[in-house]
Amino acid sequence: MKRRTGPVVIVGAGQAAAALARGLRENGFAGSIRMLGEEPQPPYERPPLSKQVLIEGRAPDALWLLGDDAQRAQGVTLSTSTRVTAIDRAAREVMTDAGEVIPYETLVLATGGTARGLPDLPVDGRRVFELRTLSDALSLHAALPGARRVLVIGGGWLGLEVAAAIRQQGLEVTLAEAAPRLCARSAPSEVSEYLLELHRGHGVDVRLGACVQPVLGEDGLTLPPDAQPYDLAVVAVGIAARDELAVAAGLPTADGVLTDCNGATADPDIFAIGDVARLCASAAGPGLRLESWRHAETQARLAAAAIVGEPRDYDEPAWFWSDQFGRLIQIAGLPDPDLELMDAEAGEKPVWRYGRNGAVAAVIGVDRARDVRMAQRALPTLASRMAAANGRAS
Ligand SMILES: Cc1cc2nc3c(=O)[nH]c(=O)nc-3n(C[C@H](O)[C@H](O)[C@H](O)COP(=O)(O)OP(=O)(O)OC[C@H]3O[C@@H](n4cnc5c(N)ncnc54)[C@H](O)[C@@H]3O)c2cc1C
Repeated sequence: MKRRTGPVVIVGAGQAAAALARGLRENGFAGSIRMLGEEPQPPYERPPLSKQVLIEGRAPDALWLLGDDAQRAQGVTLSTSTRVTAIDRAAREVMTDAGEVIPYETLVLATGGTARGLPDLPVDGRRVFELRTLSDALSLHAALPGARRVLVIGGGWLGLEVAAAIRQQGLEVTLAEAAPRLCARSAPSEVSEYLLELHRGHGVDVRLGACVQPVLGEDGLTLPPDAQPYDLAVVAVGIAARDELAVAAGLPTADGVLTDCNGATADPDIFAIGDVARLCASAAGPGLRLESWRHAETQARLAAAAIVGEPRDYDEPAWFWSDQFGRLIQIAGLPDPDLELMDAEAGEKPVWRYGRNGAVAAVIGVDRARDVRMAQRALPTLASRMAAANGRAS
C-alpha cells in the first residue's frame, strides 16, 4: 500500500470521521483534511443520545468529538450543514449541495446509517419519532412531558435503551417486537431472556412475536387489537447503511460499502469506515457490517494507518456495550449462532461464555466489566475471526 500525502476528503462528520482525522495526524499525515457533514453540529458521540440525553434533555460537554480547538489543533477544515451529493471517481472530486466541487487524493466515506422507518407510521416529530441524531433525541425528550403512554417499536438494543430511558422518567411504556425474542439478531437466547426479565421487572410491557401494525388515527395511536391509545411512538427497527453515494459511483455495495479489512474499497483512492462499511468482504465471504462505537473507532484507526502506507491487522475482538436501567451489558467477541454456551454464571450480575471446540469466542456480562475485559484478551481478533469465517465459507 502506497503512502498517501495529498488531500484527504471525509464525507460524513460523525464518530468514525472524527476518529479518522485524529488517527491520520497521529500517524504523521501532514496533508490537508477536509470534512463534510450534513448535520449542523460538529462530530459528536451517539451512544449518550438514547441514555443521558434522552433522560436529561441536554448535550453534555463530553458529547463533542471535534470542537473548534480540536479542529485547529488537528488542522481539520470542517463544513457542517453540507451534504455531498456525488462522487466523480475519474476526476477524483466530490460535489456538495452548495455546488462546491472538492478535489481529493483520498476519499473516505464515513456516512453512517439512517433509521429504517415503517411505511404506515411516518416519523412526524410530533407523535412518531426516531432516534439517530442529537436533534431526534432532544425533540423526543421535549415531547415526553406531554405524554403518559409510549409505544416503542423494535426490541433491539436501541429500542431497549429508549424504553428504559423513558420508563425511568415514570411513563407507561409498551415495547413491541415482531421476533419471538429480544435482540434476536445479535444476542443468544439466554441474554434475550435476561433482557426480557430486566424490562418486565421495571414495568415495561414487552410484547414479543407481536405483529407490529400500529394505527395512527384521529384519536391517537393504537396497536390493535388493543384499543387503548398511545400518546407517542418511537420507531427503532434498525438502520440502513448510507451507501447511496457509493452505489451511484459504481462501487460494490451490499447494505454497506464493501471494503477489505483496512477499509479500502474496490477503488484504491476510496475508503469506507464506520456503520456504512462492510469490512473484510471478499470472494470468500460477504464481510461484516457492525454498528458499534468501538468498531467505528478501530476501523478509523486501521484506515488511517493504511492511508499513510502502514496497514495493520484488526488486532482486537469486536466489543459492544449497552446501558439499560443502570445495568452495563457488555459483549466481547461475536456471539455467532453456531457457537455453544460453554459456561454461565447466573444471579444479579450474570456472565455467559460462548465458544467452539473448547475455545471461548465471545463473552457477555452484566456489570462484569473487569471479567469481560480480562476475557477479551484471550478472544480471537476480528482479523482471525473473519479469516476463519471466510475459510469456512469458501
Ligand atoms: C442512539 C444511538 C445509541 C447508540 N448506543 C451505542 C452503544 O451504547 N454502544 C455502542 O457500541 N454503539 C452505540 N451506538 C452505535 C454508534 O454510535 C455508531 O456505531 C457510530 O456512531 C457509527 O459512527 P459513524 O461515524 O459510522 O456514523 P455516524 O456517527 O452516524 O456519522 C455519520 C455522519 O455522516 C453524515 N452523512 C451521511 N451522508 C452524508 C452525505 N452525503 N454528506 C455529508 N454528510 C453525510 C450523517 O448525517 C452523520 O452525521 C449507538 C448509536 C445510536 C444512534
